[in-house]
Amino acid sequence: MNTKYIFITGGVASSLGKGIIAASLAKLLQARGLRVTIQKFDPYLNIDPGTLNPYEHGECYVTEDGAETDLDLGHYERFLGVYTSQANNVTTGRIYHTVITREREGAYLGKTVQIVPHITDEIKRRMLLLGQTGDYDVILTEIGGTVGDIESQPFIEAMRQLRWELPENDTLSIHLTLIPYLKAAKELKTKPTQHSVQELQSLGVHPDIIVCRTEKELSPEIRHKIALFCNVRPGHVIQSIDAWSIYQVPLNMEDEQLDRLAAERLGITWLPQPNLDALKDFLARLINPSGEVDIALVGKYVELQDAYKSILESFVHAGAACSCKVNVHPVHSEHIDEGNVGTVLEKMDGILVAPGFGGRGLEGKIVAVRYARENGIPFLGICLGMQMAVVEFARNVLGYTDAASTEVDPDTAHPVIDMMEDQKKTTIKGGTMRLGAYKCRLAEGSLARRLYGCDEIAERHRHRYEFNDAYRAEMTAAGLSVSGSNPETGLVEIIEIPSHPFFIATQFHPEYKSTPEKPQPLFTGFIRASIARREQGKGKASGNRDASDPR
Ligand code: GLN
Repeated sequence: MNTKYIFITGGVASSLGKGIIAASLAKLLQARGLRVTIQKFDPYLNIDPGTLNPYEHGECYVTEDGAETDLDLGHYERFLGVYTSQANNVTTGRIYHTVITREREGAYLGKTVQIVPHITDEIKRRMLLLGQTGDYDVILTEIGGTVGDIESQPFIEAMRQLRWELPENDTLSIHLTLIPYLKAAKELKTKPTQHSVQELQSLGVHPDIIVCRTEKELSPEIRHKIALFCNVRPGHVIQSIDAWSIYQVPLNMEDEQLDRLAAERLGITWLPQPNLDALKDFLARLINPSGEVDIALVGKYVELQDAYKSILESFVHAGAACSCKVNVHPVHSEHIDEGNVGTVLEKMDGILVAPGFGGRGLEGKIVAVRYARENGIPFLGICLGMQMAVVEFARNVLGYTDAASTEVDPDTAHPVIDMMEDQKKTTIKGGTMRLGAYKCRLAEGSLARRLYGCDEIAERHRHRYEFNDAYRAEMTAAGLSVSGSNPETGLVEIIEIPSHPFFIATQFHPEYKSTPEKPQPLFTGFIRASIARREQGKGKASGNRDASDPR
């Protein structure tokens, strides 16, 4: 079978969940035995989202191979359980960079370099790249942005050309739109969808399937109307109704037969029924929790849900694994200090201090760590959260009141967190951090080793600063243990406080690899510890963990 290409565009409005629809369809095709991957083409000029502020574009998702990518790749990995890579996320910036570099090399032999054909050829080359590896039966390509944007036009044009160049049965175009409900008129409105499809058609692309995001059921009449005015077959108007969980969407799409329609249109006729047992199991646990916990997420981008997407999803996975509803309470680290920390965090069963960059809100993170440490509240620190746990320990246990990370205080007398040696040479900001998966050896008898159930792991990174080894002996003697480190370089990856009920922090980002079917062990351990604390009754003095404790 030839590799099949499914293109997904969006219309009417942004944030309709193209990534979730793409991931859901991919999940269904995968569950029917096909080898599937998803790629995202983003129409902005940054080479990758690594240099973007989370307020601009949400979380920057890091792949195993160290690519800084769009957060939709996180959804793809969580839905499919397979790793993506640099090749799965391409921006306009990357396309132009390649073309302009080639132009400087003289590769265009004196020709005028233009959007069509040079930019579109480069887009097409990249659209086909993963398909040419022979590793996949189906490649889904999500085109970022909304049809009608100037920015996404070259991508749509490249897609139009590919639809024309590849055999007819090898490509499929899905357009996701919004069907707004007008309360006053008590009516669902199809006009914006009609206009969006017209816009797409004016660019030369005819959608095969229209997926309609809606808050109310679409009646057969409405579906018929959309089909008629948008010139698609009546059965090819699919409803995507607001779901209680994003992980329910694949099942909704199965009910709507999106996968069957797509496969038929692509000439794939031999597919078995999808096996979605593991997903259904997960959803059953998610919808019927037997308890709940309150977790504080202390960070500085908390106003924006998407900034901590993978962390929030990891809580969903861990909660389901523990049959527990996890209520995540965003706590703005700029709004906590020694004076109010008790009031803000007292009702929490667990405290997570989030990753981040720069000095804003840093002191609040340190205050939150201290509160967790001194009150025996389960604590999980991630990346900057781990670094601030080290700073807090140095300040309040070792007594180095000026201890800091050199990221914010380059002249501190106690640089307990310092820039990694190889980072000191880099001046370029984009793509130069310590990125991607590195091994980490887990110390015998540690909480980390118990949670992971093995002695070596590989987790993903995104940082420039590290634990300063010069303070290791002193910190260890005072009760902070290093329970994970890089086997080759010795870089400190995990710290714990063994005398605390659950205090663990990692230089790496455990959240990137959590999936519904494989919840992340540190997150499940953290939730179990938070449940235990809640059951013991809040505010109770902390006790030592006994060796048989499964946490
Ligand atoms: N700013 C810190 C560093 O670069 C932490 C990064 C992070 O939290 N991802 O090391």
